[in-house]
Amino acid sequence: MRPFVLDPIFTSVRALKGVGPRTAKLVEKLVGSEKLASLLWHLPVRYIDRRFAPKIANAPNGRIVTLTVKIDKHIPAPSRARPYRIRCSDETGTVDLVYFHAKKPWLEAQFPIGATRIISGEAEYFHGTLQMPHPEMVGTEAERDKIEIVEPVYPMTAGLTHRMMHKIISQTLPQVPVLPEWLDAAFLAQEKWPGWREAVLKAHHPESEEDLSPRKPERERLAYDELLANQLAITLVRNHNRQIGGRAMGPPGKMADTLRKALPFQLTSAQERAIKEINADMHEPMRMLRLLQGDVGSGKTVVAFFAMLNAVASGAQAALMAPTEILAQQHSKTISDYAATLGLETVILTGRHKGKARQEILEKIADGSAKIIIGTHALFQDDVIFHDLGLAVVDEQHRFGVHQRLKLAGKGKDCDILVMTATPIPRTLTLTAYGDMDFSRLDEKPAGRKPIDTRLVSTARLEEVVAGLKRKIETDARAYWICPLVEESEVMDLAAAEERWLTLQQVFGDRTGLLHGRMNAAEKDAVMQRFVAGEIDVLVSTTVIEVGVDVPEATVMVIEHAERFGLSQLHQLRGRVGRSDEESACILVYDPKIGETGKKRLTTIRNTEDGFLIAEEDLKLRGAGELLGTRQSGMPEFKLANLHDHARLVKIARDDARLIIAQDPDLQTPRGQALRTLLYLFERDNAIQYLRSG
Ligand code: ADP
Ligand code: MG
Repeated sequence: MRPFVLDPIFTSVRALKGVGPRTAKLVEKLVGSEKLASLLWHLPVRYIDRRFAPKIANAPNGRIVTLTVKIDKHIPAPSRARPYRIRCSDETGTVDLVYFHAKKPWLEAQFPIGATRIISGEAEYFHGTLQMPHPEMVGTEAERDKIEIVEPVYPMTAGLTHRMMHKIISQTLPQVPVLPEWLDAAFLAQEKWPGWREAVLKAHHPESEEDLSPRKPERERLAYDELLANQLAITLVRNHNRQIGGRAMGPPGKMADTLRKALPFQLTSAQERAIKEINADMHEPMRMLRLLQGDVGSGKTVVAFFAMLNAVASGAQAALMAPTEILAQQHSKTISDYAATLGLETVILTGRHKGKARQEILEKIADGSAKIIIGTHALFQDDVIFHDLGLAVVDEQHRFGVHQRLKLAGKGKDCDILVMTATPIPRTLTLTAYGDMDFSRLDEKPAGRKPIDTRLVSTARLEEVVAGLKRKIETDARAYWICPLVEESEVMDLAAAEERWLTLQQVFGDRTGLLHGRMNAAEKDAVMQRFVAGEIDVLVSTTVIEVGVDVPEATVMVIEHAERFGLSQLHQLRGRVGRSDEESACILVYDPKIGETGKKRLTTIRNTEDGFLIAEEDLKLRGAGELLGTRQSGMPEFKLANLHDHARLVKIARDDARLIIAQDPDLQTPRGQALRTLLYLFERDNAIQYLRSG
């Protein structure tokens, strides 16, 4: 249960003075909930310094000032269009308070003639007279301390005023409790961070530009708390998942040796390392949950096959699931070649298998005679029953989402899971989005790959591009031609692709193919097969081509309106070529109107083929959610931490969390108890269910 000490900040804003249901709704819209705690994470983006209190004669035009004035005279509005004025003075001059559409009795009560008032607002000169339209703060001499302050300014939502926000926050902050410290004392001292309560109060009271920086100690501390809560929750879930069941599989012994000898190439040391990590995992009586990250062409498939051998050697089945029909076919082809050298049979099951053929496959899967199974979403269907699924390999993770990944795993008893992704994900992101997994990286390309000659060409020179392509095709090259995202609309994409297909047909004749997302699986497949077989020279496509397609003979990639793609996406697309020992080229056709930043982005792509470097750039430019492609990718939305300023802290938080759980798995020690409070504070209640109560 949530510790009582948190109660004051887990109440609704409705409990505050002057806050009703309407305002509470606005607060919820702004910060995600009505709870005071949510407001604590909503930090100021600016501040207004009302400590500047000059005499009237010294008040600069256009600045926020706090003046002490005597009320001399009321000058009611001469017409509705003109303002009511209240003339005030000090010993150096006069100032007019200016009110439009204000009620006379109210003004008279606020500003009695002869009284002294403290007023704060923007000073401006109008026809040579100093005036202050609608002062933001007004009070008596006794209220000076409440006016001459530095006032935080918050990001707002329509309907909520700065005044109201001020009222809410100034009642919220006094509710912030003193909480037991959950950070390690030595670490806290080393970082020179304040305690939690002090950090909250300071972060809400910026007094200089520097105080607004996410790298200020108090803001870093809060960001770290959020990251730590996230990593702790992930670690608890991960341990829980690993401990339910799990079985020891492998080693694959002779089969692996035979395969190694049969391979037409030498495994890279990155591949060897990944295989070793996977073997170690599978060999333990715990569940494997591992992410295999590797840039396009880094050779993930063969690594996955070695993993599959572990399961097969133990008498279990292994399944590989691909996101598309094309990819399933491709994997099936590669893997059945590998499997054949070991005398193993593979089966493939996709949406195309119907009726009797499907029934036969299902039987082989159910009676265990099929050991290696490759497929698409079709593998999820309820009537697909595995005899004994020991390993599920899921290709191209972000296309599926966490939920589906688990669904496939659910088809096996204590099944190990290996997820492959071709999207190079920056390390910081991996830790936060895929933190429940261990990961292996293929950060090395197979030897002998030639660099891809990448060029930037303006759309004005499209004809030259076509002419150049013609020369290449005449020497037997094959090419992809990618049409851009026109809008968020598939129909529009399609129209653009079709149009390009027609114009290119005039040059390349009927050896020009078209591939787009509206075609059904069989149609796509047919076009793809013709491209693979060399019956098509130029394949015009929308971005459906993006994922994993392997046609080594294709050596030219043209991308139209390259400026409309994300960097990682361009990198993925480019990775479709350069897959053989032939020279390859990638031509990024861009709109000359893209401007400096746009050009710079494309230059990044031109200058490097390092997917991880490109991904880091992309993360800076676009943010995490977009990089992973979908919201359901499991990327948590951080309120205080941002992966740009706090990247350093992500890894520390992860190591900290793992160490804590290793030493105090149920959070029973005093620090453990404090960490429970942290989990509740960030509403990670779901993770707490995995702890024994204490
Ligand atoms: P990925 O899925 O990581 O993009 P693939 O597994 O499809 O890459 O491999 C790309 C190509 O590289 C395949 O044709 C594969 O046979 C080949 N390949 C894999 N590993 C090696 C290696 N160590 N040396 C040479 N070629 C390799
Ligand atoms: Mg692949």
